Amino acid sequence: MSTDIRIDLHSHSTFSDGALTPDQLVERAAAAGLQWLALTDHDTLDGLAGAHSAALLHGIGLIDGVEISASWRSQTLHVLGLWVDPGSSQLRLNLAAQAQRRRERMRQMCARLDKLRLPGQALLQTVESQPGVPTRTHLAAALVAAGHAKTPAEAFRRYLAQGKPAYRSAQWPALAQVVEWIRSAGGKACLAHPLRYRVSSGARRQLVAEFAAMGGAGLEVVTGNNALQHIDTCATLAIQFNLAGSVGSDFHTPQHAWNPLGRLATLPAGVNPLWGSLGY
Ligand code: AMP
Ligand code: MN
Ligand code: MN
Ligand code: MN
Repeated sequence: MSTDIRIDLHSHSTFSDGALTPDQLVERAAAAGLQWLALTDHDTLDGLAGAHSAALLHGIGLIDGVEISASWRSQTLHVLGLWVDPGSSQLRLNLAAQAQRRRERMRQMCARLDKLRLPGQALLQTVESQPGVPTRTHLAAALVAAGHAKTPAEAFRRYLAQGKPAYRSAQWPALAQVVEWIRSAGGKACLAHPLRYRVSSGARRQLVAEFAAMGGAGLEVVTGNNALQHIDTCATLAIQFNLAGSVGSDFHTPQHAWNPLGRLATLPAGVNPLWGSLGY
């Protein structure tokens, strides 16, 4: 068991809201010196086959993953399913339903943009013409391309972030259900970026406690670009609730120069690595 292994358990491709194809992503990960990469697209497994072919070619280990949207209290959460069986027909069915929720939600958000006198229906067409499951990242890019925001960050700030006028949540399944999907597909459930949810620190502790009790395996202790004090906070939570720790960049695009592949802090001592029991 080693914690100095070069591993990244959270990344995105064009099959969701990443800028690189699975092939390009894997090539970049290998060039950055990673030994293992998990592809964890939002609510889809469709990029994994291509990623595996590329991984063989570039001499890097590819871990089957997915980042599933879930709800807890009134919050949307992201749960990573790692080492899932991509052949699981039940998981595929459940994710097909997730993609349908995403398409419906995208229509609702674009209807909101219409109400704001923005060209919601044209933006919807742009998003729907793109490959991959639709996300707010796609809509932000469409808003920028049509000249309604200077940057994706501005599109989020003005329209798409939680609480902004075009934001809509979807009817995501309950957290316990998503954990069960992942476990039934042979995977480990890992709560992604635990400090990014808008909850009090007390509610966050309850969330982590419940997540562990319902069969969650890991907490993403190190995420791309987070401050050392955040790592400490997450490490303490992981240890306290007996969860393993994960390390993932949440890489989306080379344009986010502050969050490249292959530059992650190591897991603090005292946190069991999520991959530790698997003989890496
Ligand atoms: P969705 O799952 O459709 O709600 O979209 C969430 C995705 O939007 C996240 O995974 C991020 O990639 C992206 N995102 C969320 N907030 C922001 C933001 N403020 N600026 C840029 N991207 C964001
Ligand atoms: Mn994303
Ligand atoms: Mn996420
Ligand atoms: Mn992500």
